[in-house]
Amino acid sequence: MGFDFRLLTEMGHEQVVFCSNPSVGLKAFIAIHNTSLGPALGGTRMYPYASEELALQDVLKLSKGMTYKSVACGLNFGGGKAVIIGDPKKDKSEKLFRTFGAFVDRLQGQFITGEDVGVDVNDIEFMFMETDYVVGLSKEHGGSGDPSFMTAYGLVQGLQACIEERLQRDSLEGLTVVIQGLGHVGMNLVKLLVQANAKVIACDVDAQRCELAKAKWGIELVKPSQIYEVPCDVFAPCAMGGSIHLKSLSTLECKIIAGSANNQLENETVHQLLKEKNILYAPDYVINAGGLINVALELEGYSERRARLLARNIYYNLKRVFEISKERKISPAEAADRLADERIHNLQQIQRSHFLDKSKIRRA
Ligand code: NAD
Repeated sequence: MGFDFRLLTEMGHEQVVFCSNPSVGLKAFIAIHNTSLGPALGGTRMYPYASEELALQDVLKLSKGMTYKSVACGLNFGGGKAVIIGDPKKDKSEKLFRTFGAFVDRLQGQFITGEDVGVDVNDIEFMFMETDYVVGLSKEHGGSGDPSFMTAYGLVQGLQACIEERLQRDSLEGLTVVIQGLGHVGMNLVKLLVQANAKVIACDVDAQRCELAKAKWGIELVKPSQIYEVPCDVFAPCAMGGSIHLKSLSTLECKIIAGSANNQLENETVHQLLKEKNILYAPDYVINAGGLINVALELEGYSERRARLLARNIYYNLKRVFEISKERKISPAEAADRLADERIHNLQQIQRSHFLDKSKIRRA
């Protein structure tokens, strides 16, 4: 079955580019969803998609999510994303990423990209040889480095809003937090929570990550298959998307779900069950925006202090989402979407530029 191109119009995308260069093994899509507030910003993912259709579906969904994430955290960027079809363990090469970088450059600042699953700072450095329209460069190249510490910092700001809302308390001390995934964000989150005297229980499919977390922070570990059964105050999905589904919710005993993974809720039916179980859900793209804030600031000359100030706003953004959710009797996820839609609608009239002029990039 072929791809249904009606999806492009239904999801509201402005432009989708297919990048092909068989001689270097490149097959990729760049999707620009919405540039009402500015040029599209979003990472590049490398994944061994089983078909072009699946890659296209993924890039459409991810790029739309980026529009909402940028808008919700107050950045003046649009939403975009790219996916490269390939196995990051086998198919990476300098020529592949430089060729992809040249494709990004052809868009002349309509799309700015950075790291995502399967793509690391070395790959970004190759792209940077062909285009200025990349972020997440190493500090040596005037970049902001790995953004995951800022994502974790933003998560903690958001968590503060969640505990005030659902638990009527203002301290993380003594809180039990279960973390699924001890990768870049998960590990930084463990550090911040342990420092705040919260109790952390976690898992990872990678035994080395578990050992590292235990050795460094002395946290309790469980098997990945048991993670949904651990009673806790907060469940933090920090691995892959889609981990909150009817099956996991049937055993989850938590009061709050707040984590970094994108697209945490498997589908719409999950919302009703969250409500029935009185679980407060922090919409993923609102609470995990710290990393995006960090890389966006690279374009104006990176300052960690300024990034922290902006990431601190995640607390206020979530407070507003919960307020709207109560006022309009809708779920927090719907409230976040409404808030973002309203900002896009209100600011569309300004008619901001869809391009980032190279001369305006001020890397440190
Ligand atoms: P990562 O790849 O460094 O870490 C993910 C970890 O999850 C890995 O250690 C992996 O072994 C583990 N994992 C995978 N499946 C698992 C499972 N079923 N059970 C337990 N552990 C499992 O990624 P990251 O950068 O830490 O990002 C984590 C999530 O947050 C991703 O979904 C990412 O898209 C999202 N996110 C990350 C950032 C960031 O700044 N890095 C920003 C926003 C959103």
